[in-house]
Amino acid sequence: MRIALVNPSWRFEHSIYFGCREPHLPLELGAAKVLLERAGHEARMFDGPLSGLDDDGLAAAVAAYGPDATVVTTAPTYLFWRCAQPELRVPRAFLIALDGRGGTTVGVGPHGSATPETALAKLDADVVVRGECEEAIVEIADGAAFADIPGLAFRDETGAVRVTGGPRATVFRDLPALAWPDEWIAAHRHHHHRFDARPDGPGAEVEASRGCPYTCSFCAKIDFRDRYRRRDLAPVLEEIDRLIAQGVTYVYFVDEIFLPQKPLLEALVDRRLVFGVQTRIDLWKPDMLDLLGAAGCVSIEAGVESLTVEGRAALDKNCKLSTDELAERLVHARRRVPFVQANLIEVPDDDDALVDAWRERMRAAGVWANDPVPLYPYPSSPDYRRLWGEPDGRAWERAHDHYLGRFARFSDIQEEHPLPLPVLEASCAHCR
Ligand code: SF4
Repeated sequence: MRIALVNPSWRFEHSIYFGCREPHLPLELGAAKVLLERAGHEARMFDGPLSGLDDDGLAAAVAAYGPDATVVTTAPTYLFWRCAQPELRVPRAFLIALDGRGGTTVGVGPHGSATPETALAKLDADVVVRGECEEAIVEIADGAAFADIPGLAFRDETGAVRVTGGPRATVFRDLPALAWPDEWIAAHRHHHHRFDARPDGPGAEVEASRGCPYTCSFCAKIDFRDRYRRRDLAPVLEEIDRLIAQGVTYVYFVDEIFLPQKPLLEALVDRRLVFGVQTRIDLWKPDMLDLLGAAGCVSIEAGVESLTVEGRAALDKNCKLSTDELAERLVHARRRVPFVQANLIEVPDDDDALVDAWRERMRAAGVWANDPVPLYPYPSSPDYRRLWGEPDGRAWERAHDHYLGRFARFSDIQEEHPLPLPVLEASCAHCR
């Protein structure tokens, strides 16, 4: 089969979207492409943000390719599946522009993973994949009946929606090296979460592991990127070397939790590359932080979340260190890495004076701690399920209403006042 893999042209006006709005590599599509080609299929990626095409231009390019199936993602890249925009107006707008010219339409992403029937209806796609999508896309391309592929939602011949089981998890460990078009890399000027220097060449995103062994209450990963899997080192290094050969000078590891991994760090020491990670500082001993810095890490984003043991316990952080020990570890990291951020979230037990004093103490040591951000109870998080049980068809609307009603003050990364979900999705005329 010939498969089009589409990252649509994102826009986020009045969205609660927390993620970065710069273009990033659509990793889920890159991974699907390499597995499709390994299975003997033809696949091409189409990326709105990196190619500068709007919905109509992207749809025309896909139609000219003449695919048997068109896959569209509902979040900009794997990096943001855990904090996706709730609204589906952008992928829906692309499918409207495509207007039936792309063969079978397949929706993938965090929305269909948690609420498959709703995502199917809102996208008006032929099929939606639940969970990590790469292997399911290959099975669809292989021509298996939808009813025989686990983790799909589709309408049967009677028009009834059928869901063939829970979300998928890709093997991932043996994922071959991904490859990206030269022109996309040249257009990728953004260095994600880098603050120590201006970009001196193209940036890129890479996955060395997927998932996380922890279950923090606010973390939206139950339906995808959940179980921890470490990718084989050889394809990771092959992919990085390919990026370096294309001129890339900085990569961001999108791993949910970049755990200490000596062989990878040692392999990076001699490469002319700097990189950023998100991790938990409590899992890094001082000697490994030294190696992390020597390997070229210039940006660490570390989830501290709450400044009290009780607060961290309430969030199910399962953190073994005290707040002072966390602070010491952050300060040690800052001696080796030019930008270190401690992430805080709004927790009732953390009073404003405590937070202000801690932020000031960290700032004096060169560590940046954010103004605590409010929690959005994503349908794929334990918090959602604690509040309302398993997600039903209105899960995103319910989480959205809760969030808008509860927080009058929004985080400093949200510039516009967010709108209710039905209002956002009504800006795409065909969404229901
Ligand atoms: S440690 Fe990070 S990735 Fe893992 S569950 Fe907690 S917030 Fe999520």
